[in-house]
Amino acid sequence: MGFKRTIFTGLLFIIVQIGFSQDSLNVKKELDLVWDNYTFFQEETIKNRFIKHADVVQLIQKHINSGLFFNEEIGKSVRGRSINHISFGRGKTKVLLWSQMHGDESTATMALFDLFNFLSGNDEFDPLRRLIRNNLELHFVPMLNPDGAQEWKRRNDLEIDINRDARLLVSPEGRALMEIAKRIEPEIAFNLHDQSTLYAAGRTDKTATISFLAPAYNYPKDMSESRKRATQLILTMNDALQMKVPGNIAKYDDAFDPRCFGDTFQAMGISTILIESGGFRGDSEKQFIRKLNFYALLTALESIAQKSYVSQSLAKYDAIPENSRSLYDLLIRNVSITKEGIAFRTNLGINFAQIKGPDFASMTYNGRVEEIGDMELNFGHQEIEASNFSLSPGKVKFLLKAEWDSLSRDAEFELLKEGYLYVKCTDNQTLTGALSGRILHLTNQDESPVQAAKIGQQAQFVLFQESKPRYAIIKGFVVDLSKELQDLSFPE
Ligand SMILES: [Zn+2]
Repeated sequence: MGFKRTIFTGLLFIIVQIGFSQDSLNVKKELDLVWDNYTFFQEETIKNRFIKHADVVQLIQKHINSGLFFNEEIGKSVRGRSINHISFGRGKTKVLLWSQMHGDESTATMALFDLFNFLSGNDEFDPLRRLIRNNLELHFVPMLNPDGAQEWKRRNDLEIDINRDARLLVSPEGRALMEIAKRIEPEIAFNLHDQSTLYAAGRTDKTATISFLAPAYNYPKDMSESRKRATQLILTMNDALQMKVPGNIAKYDDAFDPRCFGDTFQAMGISTILIESGGFRGDSEKQFIRKLNFYALLTALESIAQKSYVSQSLAKYDAIPENSRSLYDLLIRNVSITKEGIAFRTNLGINFAQIKGPDFASMTYNGRVEEIGDMELNFGHQEIEASNFSLSPGKVKFLLKAEWDSLSRDAEFELLKEGYLYVKCTDNQTLTGALSGRILHLTNQDESPVQAAKIGQQAQFVLFQESKPRYAIIKGFVVDLSKELQDLSFPE
């Protein structure tokens, strides 16, 4: 009874908050409810991060049809793809948000379309929407670099890094951004990027899932009114995000670089905020980070609309940890290695190289040894404590081609458990390397083709516990040999 009553009182409280009190919206509760109901707003046609210009154009059209958004073409990319400016709202405060000026950084583009869905909704969140629409004039440029997105690459098709082109404006994409900023004269701007998943929040094992920066506008990195507002907004978003991913927020290096748009806009008096989406364990496709972006942006827009961010104390900015590039995809600690006849214990840092798939619409990964040595101050997304293990390059099994062809997956796994990583077909030596659907790799050599633990080489070896293989590392992926085959997945 007491429990039911608590729920009822709670519901009533929420209804009262949403229904009657726009001025005193219980903001935190309201935004938490949006967070809980995110799937209603998540743009369902965007299923992964490899979104292309054609997808963006189609989605913009959907929102134009709603009558709440307006669209104009503000330029064309090098390859002639449209650069679109979408506006929303009729308020006094102008805000400019652009995403994906680096073509392979799409997390915020996905989040912007989730935000459009939220803004054009019609439900119990209408007071929040009205607040934004009546107080803000929003200007969006999603996917500023559509040619880069098409091939999943950072630069545009002139090989120019658009975010180093704010002064020379050689790129048509950079020119379009500068022109729209000069025409609109926004008070506040958001520069939306992705950063490496290997950044930690300070010297911790926590990934820097979101990193913020209020860019400097001069070399001494002075504080101006414009930069102060940007910092206060960052603190507001940080407060909100810390509740969702405690310890995963960092601040980006604030060295002044006048070639960057953020620094240049800050110098023009536009309060500019850089948001970098990094990594979060178990979210390689960045769909959870997309939700965090959506939530951070909505939090910021609400706070701009109510001007509530101005109460933030700048001193709090010091407490946000620095972005630190100190993570590895896989860290093997205290493993015994023998090289040049010398046995020693050390640490191995392994990172995945990203290999673009067909049509630049997917990704595969290949782990390489990045560092050998003291990694006491580093952490891994995945770690193996290998004090009891020694590293071996993996053996070569000699088979006839027919034997290899008819080898069952179970039999292949049994060979792996005996420490074999390679097969050499003695009567047929054409193919080498990994084959789709197979566990072992083919080789033409009698010895393991990969020298164990060499910097820059594929991370491919076996960890022995005494004389028994315990883990196989295949292309940087860890295979626990104490488990059953059906409980494992192998990289293709
Ligand atoms: Zn970037």
